[in-house]
Amino acid sequence: MMDPTAYEDFRAAIFASMWRDLAPLEEEIEEHESIPREKIWPALREMGAFGLLIPTEYGGHGLSIAQYLPIIAEFAKVHGGIRALVHVHNSMGHAFWELADERQRDAVLPGVADGARSVAFGLTEPDSGTGLDTATTAVADGDDYVINGRKWLITNSDFASHFMVFARTGSTLSVVTVERDAPGLRIEELPETMGCKGGQHGLLTFTDVRVPQTNRLGAEGSGAEGMERALEISRVLVAASSLGTAEYALDLSVRFAQQRVTFGKPIASRQAVQRYLAEMATDVHALRLLLDDAAAKWDAGRRIPQEASICKLFGLEAVGRVTDRALLVHGGIGYTRRHPIERLYRDARLNWLEEGTPTIQQLVIARELLKGAARHSEDMELTNP
Ligand SMILES: Cc1cc2nc3c(=O)[nH]c(=O)nc-3n(C[C@H](O)[C@H](O)[C@H](O)COP(=O)(O)OP(=O)(O)OC[C@H]3O[C@@H](n4cnc5c(N)ncnc54)[C@H](O)[C@@H]3O)c2cc1C
Repeated sequence: MMDPTAYEDFRAAIFASMWRDLAPLEEEIEEHESIPREKIWPALREMGAFGLLIPTEYGGHGLSIAQYLPIIAEFAKVHGGIRALVHVHNSMGHAFWELADERQRDAVLPGVADGARSVAFGLTEPDSGTGLDTATTAVADGDDYVINGRKWLITNSDFASHFMVFARTGSTLSVVTVERDAPGLRIEELPETMGCKGGQHGLLTFTDVRVPQTNRLGAEGSGAEGMERALEISRVLVAASSLGTAEYALDLSVRFAQQRVTFGKPIASRQAVQRYLAEMATDVHALRLLLDDAAAKWDAGRRIPQEASICKLFGLEAVGRVTDRALLVHGGIGYTRRHPIERLYRDARLNWLEEGTPTIQQLVIARELLKGAARHSEDMELTNP
């Protein structure tokens, strides 16, 4: 955690540089559907965006989750594509720190903190489902693993130096780091996305890619647990992105409703429009409180699978409702590219998919709920024999 007084200054400075240095690039990114690295990289490096969640001993800022949330939310306001880039870089740098041993951390993390290196997350596959359904294999051969399979939709695939690959090692899953230049790894672009434009979410094909077994993160067979741990906090961070998008859509809607006059009065004076605004504010407020709760628990050292999935699920529903309402408040002109609502609407839809769809969040929430209920009835049996 950063010292609270230093954090206040740091946060004010990073917010200022986001709006000064990054926001003016929005039109260029949307127009060309590509992030101009030569302009974005120096700005992100200068403001310290690459090392936000990287511990200070590896050159990062070591922010707590509570300190990081408002910053990633602000990135979502400025531009969804830049937010996705910064989110995955920090989230996966953080996950790597959690899963790696000292030697692996020393080798990779200092470069991650200044953006010279970046760790990407290789989980989703074109040919099978996520998690235990993984079809990619890492077969032990002497001191190496030989990896075969395909991963897709892998964010930051255009520049990541390392991929954390979830692969089947026999009947269990393991996480193995593969470097970008490993022989046998082919990286291809996928088509541009609906929103959060400019980043690459590519297709990785592993053909007899050989890496030393020392590239494995954690014990063999610990991949399912590693995946859960990486996704847990990352789900909270996706929900923080939903909060940023929703807050901005609400602010713009309040302003627009006060300015737009129909039948001689600002539309903000109409009860029907006030109802939209009130519903949006309720969603924003509830999401903010859910996030505060999850961050406080995580920063206190607790595991929060249920809270994380609740944040992610409520966040995607809230940002969906808020951007729907924002479009309605803006009327037809909101559907044009003159207003940022159109971009926020598209950016928000990625939050539905990142780190798992709604059904996956429901599955985790119900699993944790039923586990808790089973524990409770065991206790009842013990206390009421
Ligand atoms: C822009 C972008 C960036 C991404 N970045 C990354 C990344 O960096 N790394 C990465 O690994 N992945 C990444 N993803 C992938 C993303 O996490 C997945 O797309 C998402 O988790 C859904 O998985 P899927 O696409 O395989 O959908 P599917 O699993 O094919 O799901 C399709 C539908 O079926 C439902 N479904 C599937 N299986 C079940 C089941 N067993 N029970 C109930 N319902 C089910 C799903 O909920 C969904 O509604 C990214 C995706 C996008 C769009």
